[in-house]
Amino acid sequence: MSKTYDVGLGNNDSDLRKKANSDFVSFWGKQAKNLTWFSSWSQTLDWDPPFAKWFVGGKINASYNALDVHQNTKANKPAILWEGENEDSRILTYGDMFTQVQKLSNVLKSLGVQNGDRVTIYLPMIPELPITMLACARIGAIHTVVFSGFSSTSIKDRIIDSKSKIVITADGGYRRGKIVKLKEVIDDAIQDCDFVQHVVVVERTKNAILMNSRDKLWNNLMKNISDSCDAEKLDSTHPLYILYTSGTTGKPKGVLHGTGGYLTHLYSTFKWAFDIKDSDVFFCTADIGWVTGHSYVVYAPLLHGATQIMYEGAPDFPNASRIWNILEKYGVTIFYTTPTALRMFMKFGDDIPNSFDLSSLRLLGTVGEPINPEVWKWYFKTIGKEKCPIVDTWWQTETGGMMISPLPGLETIPLKPGSGTRAIPGVNIAVVDDDGHELSSNTKGYLVIRNPWPGMLLTLWNDDEKYASVYWSKYKNCYYPGDYALKDDDGYFWLLGRADDVLKVAGHRIGTAELESCIVSHDDVAESAVCGIPDDVKGEVIIAFVVLKHGITKDSDILENEIVDKIRSNIGAIATPKQIYFVSKLPKTRSGKIMRRLLKSIGNNEQIGDISTLEDGTAVTEVQTAFNEIQKAVKDKL
Ligand code: ATP
Ligand code: MG
Repeated sequence: MSKTYDVGLGNNDSDLRKKANSDFVSFWGKQAKNLTWFSSWSQTLDWDPPFAKWFVGGKINASYNALDVHQNTKANKPAILWEGENEDSRILTYGDMFTQVQKLSNVLKSLGVQNGDRVTIYLPMIPELPITMLACARIGAIHTVVFSGFSSTSIKDRIIDSKSKIVITADGGYRRGKIVKLKEVIDDAIQDCDFVQHVVVVERTKNAILMNSRDKLWNNLMKNISDSCDAEKLDSTHPLYILYTSGTTGKPKGVLHGTGGYLTHLYSTFKWAFDIKDSDVFFCTADIGWVTGHSYVVYAPLLHGATQIMYEGAPDFPNASRIWNILEKYGVTIFYTTPTALRMFMKFGDDIPNSFDLSSLRLLGTVGEPINPEVWKWYFKTIGKEKCPIVDTWWQTETGGMMISPLPGLETIPLKPGSGTRAIPGVNIAVVDDDGHELSSNTKGYLVIRNPWPGMLLTLWNDDEKYASVYWSKYKNCYYPGDYALKDDDGYFWLLGRADDVLKVAGHRIGTAELESCIVSHDDVAESAVCGIPDDVKGEVIIAFVVLKHGITKDSDILENEIVDKIRSNIGAIATPKQIYFVSKLPKTRSGKIMRRLLKSIGNNEQIGDISTLEDGTAVTEVQTAFNEIQKAVKDKL
């Protein structure tokens, strides 16, 4: 197995793990006490499979735990250091956030929003976005944030699904120097949605907008309104938000999260994984439109009274230095990003990050996809200068928070590039075969979660049946995440890609992540995506798409041979792709994940079908261009 890296920070509280394993229910009950409750629960867990209720009878409020609890000690501490794409900047202290959130809570009430009502939020990465989420949470309204890159069709579907009374948007948002006209998208999306009573508009870009009768300007509403609004005492199981999944494997699902359990999960994992200290400057690059942004931009850092960076724009705008510039400017200590972003940074070469002072960094993290060991090593050396632990955190929209991760705030554990190490305490994860039997070490199978956990989704919005069938029908009383994995001799988990994407060649099963990581370990390769397509003779054959690093001019036949040699020696001849296509970019979801199922349809020479629910106008064009290029490459080879 691969070389390990010993850079843990923790105290090795093995006692905590022991307690967690022997009685996960009381373990989580103890963790929940780190939060402030209006009244305690009478039952820690009510488990009526597949529905789990945590801290039943307890009363709590997310906004109260994010803001009110810090007012005596941290009112002047920056909560958000906001950096606009156009270099505007704002600092919002815990005191500022408290005032703004209370005012907006009163605005929402004055617009008729009540406990349990849904509010759709379609905002760029500006402070008004977390302010709106916290204002909803304060009064018990359910927020549903839609990523501001989505098209009017996607947002319409989500508004109809959630039946939101109110939509909060902005005149526009900056994306790569251009203004995206968000208000126009909303106008288009809701023209037939009579149930939407008001649209509140934040003026971010000051571009001209059309104001209809149900539209109101944020600034006008906030002008003469009281800045005092007590947080509602809500049930622990009160729904906090609906969030639609990334849509990598199909139509997005409306994941519904609760309050007390979810916050407990976030509070604990943020402390354990990031070892958060009062002096830290935390920077998570995720857009709040995705779960990582909900959990580890909005809720977890605020629960801890941490200071964090919120960046509005693209990480490589106006140039490839932007992200490192922000890290240096604000003295970031903890940096949390995605493998796809890291592969992009890596593609630009080492000179760029090397020209910045990144010495403030003490901890690094990744999430969203399996991280290729080669990319992990680059992150460790070039960004972390071999002194920062990397927390590779596996989790999903549905899990609410991290489930597998190294935990430097809790224990020292040797790291292995590409593995998220072990499950967090109080969570029971295994790798099983088709019949649900646990597999011996180093054997590939399906990841399952064998107990309920506090961050667990309540259900899918308005669809208990689908909830039960998607996650709980493959194995009895076991949650099925849909990921392919193995556990090594040291008990470390290796995530090998989506179970649906597993390559089956001549009776062998190969995870997409294994093969892609092998290809990416070639010095000239920046990114790769592999998929299986049907073959008359072999049943299935593998095709691979490869993006090279900047400035590589080597002959493609030579490269192809080198890549094939690598695959043969690292994995075996069985994994040799039938074709390797060199392309300039890969089609991705808006959260940066490779759309393998679409590559598959191209490999099969099928129509791509409707991708409008996944991508906005610009991205569709980008994806389409990539597809056309790929399709041409495929045809040229035939
Ligand atoms: P959909 O469920 O609609 O297809 P999605 O699964 O991409 O979309 P998310 O909830 O954002 O939506 O992503 C969770 C998935 O991302 C996991 O199931 C896993 O496949 C992948 N993933 C997340 N973090 C990691 C990680 N650290 N290592 C490996 N895979 C990861
Ligand atoms: Mg998923």
